[in-house]
Formats: sequence, structure tokens, C-alpha cells
Amino acid sequence: MNTLPSIFVSHGAPTFAIEPGLAGAQLRALGKALGKPRAVLIVSPHWMTRGVEITATARPETIHDFGGFPRALYAIQYPAPGAPELGARAAQLLHSRGIAASLEERRGLDHGAWVPLLYLYPDADVPVVQASIPFDMDEAKAFELGRALAPLAEEYVLIVGSGSLTHNLYEFRMGQAQEEAYAAEFSAWIRQAVLDGDTERLVQALQRAPHAARAHPTTEHFLPLLVAAGAAATPTPATVLDGGIRHGVLAMESYVFGRHVPLDVEEAGHA
Ligand code: ZN
Repeated sequence: MNTLPSIFVSHGAPTFAIEPGLAGAQLRALGKALGKPRAVLIVSPHWMTRGVEITATARPETIHDFGGFPRALYAIQYPAPGAPELGARAAQLLHSRGIAASLEERRGLDHGAWVPLLYLYPDADVPVVQASIPFDMDEAKAFELGRALAPLAEEYVLIVGSGSLTHNLYEFRMGQAQEEAYAAEFSAWIRQAVLDGDTERLVQALQRAPHAARAHPTTEHFLPLLVAAGAAATPTPATVLDGGIRHGVLAMESYVFGRHVPLDVEEAGHA
């Protein structure tokens, strides 16, 4: 049980930070059930670069990389320490697999990283390293990135892919109550592939799943799921955290790859 599972989290809209709902309660329960790892390595689509960049920042700042949201969001700080030596180790693992990677010593944590971490590890006492997504990354390369990072899970580092199971911002209307059926259909297809441990189906999902082009007009919020799937020693057993659909189109579903985690979810606040 020394090897940690890997996880994919849907980070939703930035307001998820102040409106936990069911998904927030689930992530909180997941953090408690997994316990605190030595460190977290989190991939967020809000940092896109040439090649993979990895933070080697001693004290990463909290980046409020969004505009026009409630004031309370900009006051939130997530002061987790960095882990420069882990960043260096991750870069070395990528180099050994022929993946271009470099260290970034000033970059902080963007909201794709700190919003889910607010729930997973609210005390901000687990060191965090963030990795970027290369502009030219496709699905196969995202899975390969996960495979390359997998040895870290044996060193008690929790590998997290942060994205959104559905992410069509053209259709996004804050607070929309009407759930779009396509988002649920796409999510159900992905969920089944996750439960089956069928990583090949996941890698091909944007070609094969129903409504894939509508769920992901661009791929960057889907790729972290493939990084997480690739990082697992074994994809199954998997745990599904079905956080429902927010704002009509954003599926808040998250997954644990490689372990069945019984969750004691106590929902506070509204969904
Ligand atoms: Zn996002």
C-alpha cells in the first residue's frame, strides 16, 4: 500500500473555491481518506508552455488567474510550501523518457492547482509542485507524461491531473440550472471506461465518446485526466466521485485511479 493512486479532479469554475457543494465535500473526504502524501505534483491546464515546465519554487504564491469574479475569491491564499527537489526529480524522470522538461523557479500555483487543493489538503501543509501542459501535447503524449511521472507515486508523491470532465466555455452561463444532456452522456461514457480500466479507450475518447467535440472544443482541460490515468501503477480499481453538473455544462466528476477509496462525504453548503 506504499504506492499512491493518482487522481483526476474537475476544478470547475473559479467560484468552486467559495461554493464547495457536493464536489468540494467529496474532495475533502478524499483527502482525509488518502491521508497526507509527502508532496503533491499537480498538472493544470492554466499553465501552457513549450515543453513541460515544472515549478522549483520554494514558496509558491497563489495566482488569481481569472477576472470578473467575486472579491472573496481574490482574498484566498493557499500558502503551501514548494518542493524544489521534487521538481528537479520530476524533470529528471521526464528527461530519462525523452520528454522535454525545464524548471521554473518563480512560478506560483494557478487556480487549476490551488482550488482543488483547498479541499484535498485545506491546511496547505503538503508541499506542492505544479507541472504545465505543453501547447503541442496530444492525448497519447499526455498519457506518456503520466507514465513518466509514475515512479513518483512509489515515493509517496500524489500525482493529480486537474481539469474539467466537460469544458465548453462558449456554452458556460454562470448559475445556469438547466443541465445539458450531452454533458451527462459524455461523462457516463468516460466513467465507464475509467471503471473498466480501459486506458486505450480513454486515450481515444475525444474521437470516440459521444459529444466529445462539444464537451471539449479544445483539449487542454481533458488532457490532465490522461496524465492521471497514465500515472497509476494500475488503472483499476477506480473510484468515481460524481460531483454532478454545475452551471448546466461543467461536469464536476473526479476519479481515483488504482484504488477503491470508501468516502465519508458530508455535504455542507449548496450543490
Ligand atoms: Zn480551468
